[in-house]
Amino acid sequence: MTSLHLETPCFESPALSSAGRRVFLKLDALQPPGSFKIRGIGFACQEYARRGITRFVSSSGGNAGIAVAYAGRQLSVPVVVVVPETTTERAKALIRQQGADVVVHGSSWQEANDLALSMVEATDAFLHPFDDPLIWRGHASLVDEVVTAGVAADAVVLAVGGGGLLCGVVEGLRANGLEDVPVVAVETRGADSLSRSIAAGSRVELPAITSIATSLGARRVCEQAFELATDHPLRSVVVSDRAAVSACMRFLDDHRLVVEPACGAALAPVYEQAPELDDYETLLVVVCGGATATLEQLEVWSEGP
Ligand SMILES: *Cc1c(COP(=O)(O)O)cnc(C)c1O
Repeated sequence: MTSLHLETPCFESPALSSAGRRVFLKLDALQPPGSFKIRGIGFACQEYARRGITRFVSSSGGNAGIAVAYAGRQLSVPVVVVVPETTTERAKALIRQQGADVVVHGSSWQEANDLALSMVEATDAFLHPFDDPLIWRGHASLVDEVVTAGVAADAVVLAVGGGGLLCGVVEGLRANGLEDVPVVAVETRGADSLSRSIAAGSRVELPAITSIATSLGARRVCEQAFELATDHPLRSVVVSDRAAVSACMRFLDDHRLVVEPACGAALAPVYEQAPELDDYETLLVVVCGGATATLEQLEVWSEGP
């Protein structure tokens, strides 16, 4: 069966490259549901459908929920997404646009997730947004495509929320004999659960998410992501919301694409010539995308305090 994600363009950005550095972009913002998430979610949904699962259940009001809804429609499997009351109308509309049922429940993601889990029956599959080896295997396809495109980088820059993308990219690097290529793992301040875990030497849980980059808002990274911080060459970088939004606006001008602050986070150290990147002459930036930000919202954020 063919995969549910598209092979996305990978090319050198004239705008982000400079005299001393080449910057390649992997444009997963162009996936039909708007983000890289369809790689892992699509792979997992196909696998679950093959095993005879008859319904997909998700509790994400963000790009994971949108990806599950998209996968369900492609596979003709019904989807229910339980989201908290805080979920934006836009996100709910994007999920419903794919024919999925949206159930609004609870004031926080935790409450929505509890209800979603209680709804899972024997022939249903629950799709976790980041903590599932099937998800990581699906995300690994991104590196296969980069290698096929003939792009070799000194480091891969990506955003980290719960760490599913990180796990998948490292799996893909290892599968392609690139286990020595470092990953620069970028978070926004207030969603910096990996950075704080590395500093503490153990997996910490943030008391709350205070960043506007809601797609990075996992209070705790998955175990596997935390272990990769020691098992794989990794540099952790934390940027401000302001820097992430500013990177979104510059990227919009440079490449004519609207991306979420979650994705702007990965672009920010490159635009800002962060010293953490000084060692690398060729960078690959995973442009992870995100469907929940509008230009209007980005403008409000960029004028904000
Ligand atoms: C989910 C998401 C992330 C973070 O991915 P994780 O696998 O949770 O680390 C980053 N950017 C966007 C746009 C996302 O949707």
